[in-house]
Amino acid sequence: MNVRNCKNCGRLFNYIAGPPICPECKDQVEKKFQKAKEFVRNTAHATVSMVAEEVDVSEQQVKQWIREERLVFSDATVAGVTCEVCGEPITTGRFCAKCKNQVMNDLNGAIKKPDAPVVKKKERENPRMRFLDNR
Ligand SMILES: [Zn+2]
Ligand SMILES: [Zn+2]
Repeated sequence: MNVRNCKNCGRLFNYIAGPPICPECKDQVEKKFQKAKEFVRNTAHATVSMVAEEVDVSEQQVKQWIREERLVFSDATVAGVTCEVCGEPITTGRFCAKCKNQVMNDLNGAIKKPDAPVVKKKERENPRMRFLDNR
């Protein structure tokens, strides 16, 4: 059994997975999230700080919900959420649509890349192989 101290209230609890927060605190945060969601839905020009104040959480927590795409603002220009790459105003997540594509491409590229340099290095270290290959 994995027993840990709750990061929020300090109480000991049986840790399973995810952030080290006890079930009671998790419940509380979840309730606040539901309130935040409701608030954003009913407030056309909601901002990060307005949500934080409304449901009594830190702006950090509100931004966490946004990064997880659980909280979606209706108006990007006032929400105070920006793309981590280009700084463009966005309504949810971490990147604007354009940068999200770019990041996805980069990730795919990074997975394919490791093969290429290895082949090149072998060629250089073994000139005879290259000679045979050219024939
Ligand atoms: Zn707790
Ligand atoms: Zn962007």
